[in-house]
Amino acid sequence: MQSILIRLKEDFQLSIITLVGLCSLIGITPYIVFRLLEGNLWVGLVDAFLVVSTGLAVLYAWRTGDTVRPGQFLALIYSAGAVLVSIKLGVNGLFWFYTLILFNFFVVPPLQSAVATVASLIVVCTYGYLNPGLVFESHYQMTSFAVTCLIASLFASVFAYRGRRQREQLIELATLDPLTRAGNRRAMDAELDIAMADYQRHKTAYGLLVLDLDLFKEVNDAHGHKAGDKVLTEFTRIVKLSCRQSDRLFRMGGEEFVLLLPMVDRTGLEQAASHIRGTVAEQLQTPDGPVTVSIGGCMLHQHGNSDEWMHEADQCLYKAKELGRNRYIISPKG
Ligand code: GH3
Ligand code: MG
Ligand code: MG
Repeated sequence: MQSILIRLKEDFQLSIITLVGLCSLIGITPYIVFRLLEGNLWVGLVDAFLVVSTGLAVLYAWRTGDTVRPGQFLALIYSAGAVLVSIKLGVNGLFWFYTLILFNFFVVPPLQSAVATVASLIVVCTYGYLNPGLVFESHYQMTSFAVTCLIASLFASVFAYRGRRQREQLIELATLDPLTRAGNRRAMDAELDIAMADYQRHKTAYGLLVLDLDLFKEVNDAHGHKAGDKVLTEFTRIVKLSCRQSDRLFRMGGEEFVLLLPMVDRTGLEQAASHIRGTVAEQLQTPDGPVTVSIGGCMLHQHGNSDEWMHEADQCLYKAKELGRNRYIISPKG
C-alpha cells in the first residue's frame, strides 16, 4: 500500500491515468446499465469498451511504468468515444468534450492533444453540419460549441505546458549540480542504489570511477575562484565527451566527481579511466599549464551497499594521489 502511494505521489502521469481509470469505472459504468436498459445498444457498447480498455491501460501503466503509450491510447479512445457519443446523443453527449479536452492535455504532450481534440471537433461539427438537427439544434449552437471548445483547449494547453515545464525545472533543480550541470549527490545516491538492485537482480555489470582534480587549490589560489569554476565546468564537458552516453557523471562536491559505468567489464573500466585521464591532461588548461586528474575505480561485486562500493574506489584514488597524481588505479577485486 505504501509503495502504491509513493508511486502515485512521484509519477504525475501515472496518477492522472489512475484517476481517469477510477472516474471511468465509477462514472461510466452506471451509464452502461442505463443505456442498455433504455435500448441504446451502441452507446452502451461504446461505454463498456471505454471502461474495459481504460482498465487495461491503467493496469499496463502500473505493471510497466510506461505512461506514454497508455496515455496516447486513452486519448485516442476517449476522443473517438466522445465523437461517437455526441453523434448518437446529440447535445446531451457534447458536454463530454470539455472533460475530454482537460484529460487529453494532461496525459499527452500539447501538440498531440491539440491534434486529437481538433480532429474530434472537426468530425463532430462536420457530421452535425451535414445532418442538421441530429447533433446541434442550430448553426449558432454549433459555432458556440466549437468556439468554446477551442478556447477551453487553449487554456488547457497553456496550463498543461506550464505544468510540464515546471516539473522539468523542478527535476533539474533537484538532480543537477548548478555549476557544472553534472548530476548532484542526491541523484548519485539514487542511481547507485538502482545499480546495486540491478546487479543483484539481473547480474548487470557496473563500474565506478572516482575522479579528483589534482592540486586544484593551487588553481584557485593562482587564478581566483571564478577561473576555478570555469575549470570545473570545462572538466565536466571533457569527461562527458570522453565517456559513453549511458555513463552517468555526478559531482560529489568540490573538485571530486563520480562516473557510473553500466555494462562494463574490468578491462573496459581501465580503458575508460585511462582515456579520461589522458584527455583531461591534454585538454584541461589554465594559463599556467595543464590541470590533471587522479582516478580510483572498482567494479561492483560483493558490496553490501553503495557506501562500501564507493569506499573501495576511494581507497584506489588515495593510492593514485600517493603515487604522484595524474594516474588511475583500478581495484583488483571483483
Ligand atoms: P589534491 O591533488 O590532493 O586533490 O589537491 P587539491 O588541491 O585538489 O585538494 P584540496 O582538497 O586541498 O583542495 C580542493 C580545493 O577545491 C579547495 C577548494 O577551494 C576548491 N573548491 C571546492 N569547491 C569549489 C568550487 O565550487 N569552485 C572552486 N573554484 N573551487 C572549489
Ligand atoms: Mg583535488
Ligand atoms: Mg578532493
